[in-house]
Formats: sequence, structure tokens, C-alpha cells
Amino acid sequence: MPSPSSSIAVIGAGIAGLSCARSLHDAGHAVTLFDKARGPGGRLSSRRAPGAIVDLGAQYFTARDPAFQAELAGWLERGLVAPWPTALWRVDAHGWQQHSDDLPRYCAVPRMSALSRHLAEGLELNAGARVLGLERRANGWYLEDDQQRRHGPFQRVAISAPAPQAEALIAAHDHTLAEACRSLEQSPCWAGYALFDAPLPELPGVDGSWQAAFINQGPLRFVARNHHKPGRAEQGESLTLLATAEWSQAWLERSAEQVAEALYAALLEQLPGTLRPPTPRLLAAHRWRYAQPLHAAMGPGYRLGEQGLALCGDGWLGPRVEDAWCSGRRLAERWLGVTG
Ligand SMILES: Cc1cc2nc3c(=O)[nH]c(=O)nc-3n(C[C@H](O)[C@H](O)[C@H](O)COP(=O)(O)OP(=O)(O)OC[C@H]3O[C@@H](n4cnc5c(N)ncnc54)[C@H](O)[C@@H]3O)c2cc1C
Repeated sequence: MPSPSSSIAVIGAGIAGLSCARSLHDAGHAVTLFDKARGPGGRLSSRRAPGAIVDLGAQYFTARDPAFQAELAGWLERGLVAPWPTALWRVDAHGWQQHSDDLPRYCAVPRMSALSRHLAEGLELNAGARVLGLERRANGWYLEDDQQRRHGPFQRVAISAPAPQAEALIAAHDHTLAEACRSLEQSPCWAGYALFDAPLPELPGVDGSWQAAFINQGPLRFVARNHHKPGRAEQGESLTLLATAEWSQAWLERSAEQVAEALYAALLEQLPGTLRPPTPRLLAAHRWRYAQPLHAAMGPGYRLGEQGLALCGDGWLGPRVEDAWCSGRRLAERWLGVTG
């Protein structure tokens, strides 16, 4: 257990890093978060486009774990999240069918990244700071970032970056952790998005207020109507188009423009008959090289290493937002001595 108010660095301000940092901070430790991006969130990312906000990473989340359910109850009470999608469809060889599986799903209001902003409140966050390396000295760990700044000393360092990125940071310090990282494969995902000036036409046989659809054929796996998410009623029609892992891998090095066109064409193929939406006013795509772990690692949901190093993040528990949150929380509890 770190001594009272010991200093701890958390690399990565996605949901795992944030839940880890939050628990340690609330227990009185001096925690400093680092993220290479301009703000917190990681794969809970949203993009502001003229007239619309599109979620580019996780579109919704579920809550199976009791600790996460308890946290979710607080978020729901404060209006930070709301149930979504509640009108879910699936598309396969039999066409469009309503999808119902009794699994509640939730989305942050008014965009996914709003949840991470909330979780980061009151925490010390060095945004825009890509950590390039760690150095162990007698008085603790030092971090060097891409602005040639040195941070430290820290008694402990939690790395919540996806395993391939974490490996680069720890390879020189902890061979066992590095090996564990190499065993965790992350699959990629291309996320396309399309913005429209006019609403999509009604799809024959489909309720006009459909919010999202699982696509079980072709390059796409999920389509979300962002403007049907809670808190976005004033926005125009916008779609997020998520590609399957296999297709994303095959198209990984293509340009974002090519991918956006291909994913939009794939959507058109899934629309019934000759139905055609209005021409999008913006069509673009974002590449996630490390979108989701292929297999969940066995273990407690985190990895402890040498001399106060540790790894957390979705890869150590499962492929979902809730796994990432639980992973960060469990590491913090381990360090706080709550769990053995
Ligand atoms: C397209 C897509 C769709 C998804 N859909 C769903 C869904 O519907 N439901 C669901 O539950 N989950 C979904 N997921 C998975 C979910 O988003 C992730 O499981 C979760 O957000 C991972 O959180 P994390 O904190 O572990 O990692 P991340 O969010 O990746 O956070 C890691 C952070 O580390 C930072 N970082 C990395 N290297 C460095 C460095 N050297 N220095 C500083 N910072 C660094 C990154 O910038 C990032 O912010 C989806 C993911 C993607 C990509």
C-alpha cells in the first residue's frame, strides 16, 4: 500500500486511468494524470463538427459489474448519463428487425466525452503530454514527455494505455509486464461519420425513430444516429458508422477519405430497396489502431510489476467501457489495500 499521500502518476486519462486516479485521489494520494491527447476520454471520444457532435469511440456502455452499477446509479441521478439506445435494430440477410435483448445500455449526455470530463474534475491532468519514457532513480520514478519535460518523483506509476503502447514504456524496466503486454492483441476499428442537412428518409418497415442498428453483414458492424442520443435534440442528422475488426484490419493503411466513402457505400447497401438518403455534407473517418482487446486477459483486471509499476485498462479485463472502469478501480483498491 502506498504511504499516505504518496505521489502516483497515471499515464492515460481514458476511463480506466480516470477511475484509478479518482479512487486514489479521493483516498488522499497526490495523483497526476498524463495524456497525449488534448483532453481526457481516450476511446470515449467525441468530435465536434458544425451542427453536430459525433461519438467516434464507444457508442454506449453496459453495466454488469455491481461496483460499476453503483457508480452508474450516481451518474444517472445527476443526469450525466441516460439510457440509449432504446430503439435498437439489427440488419442481416432477413432485412431490418427490431433488436431486443433486455440488456440496458447507456450513453453520456450530451456526448460520450462529457463523462470523462466529469470524472477528470478536480484531478491534476497534464493533457497534450505524451509520455516517452520512464526512469527509475533512488527517490522514485521520473517521466519524460514529448515536450522535453521531466515529471517526478513518483512512488508509483499506473499505465492505462492500450497494451502495445504500454509495452513501449515498460519494456526497459519490467520484462514480465512487457511480455504480458505482447500477449494482448488489440483489434483495430475504422469509425466513419456522415453529417446531413436533411433527415434520413423513413425506411420501409422501420420505425422512423430508430436510434441504432447492429449490422451483421458486410463491412459495417454498428450504425448510430448521434442526434437521437440524449441531449442532442437540436442537432441535425448525423451517423457514426463502425466497421468490423476484420474489415478495419484489411483497410488499416488506407486513407480516411477512402474509408469514409467505402463505409458510406456499405451503409447504402443495407438500406431497403432503392432508398437513398440526402448527400452527406460531411463524410469522414477516424482510425482506431487499438480499438478493443481481442481476448480478455486472465487475472484480477490489472497487472502489478516491479518497483511500483502497474498496468490497467480494458485489455486486462474485457473489451468494454465497464471493464476499463473496473480495471482502474481494482488497481486503485489493490494499492489502497482494500483488496489483497
Ligand atoms: C470504435 C469503438 C467502439 C467501441 N464501442 C464500445 C461500446 O459500444 N461499448 C463499450 O462498452 N465499449 C466500446 N468500446 C471500447 C471502449 O471504448 C474501451 O474499452 C474503453 O474506452 C477503454 O478505456 P481505457 O481507459 O482502457 O483506454 P483508452 O480510452 O484508450 O485510454 C488510454 C489513454 O492513454 C493515452 N495514452 C496512450 N499512450 C500514451 C502515452 N505514451 N502518454 C500519454 N498518454 C497516452 C491515450 O491517449 C488514451 O487517452 C469501443 C471502442 C472503440 C474504439
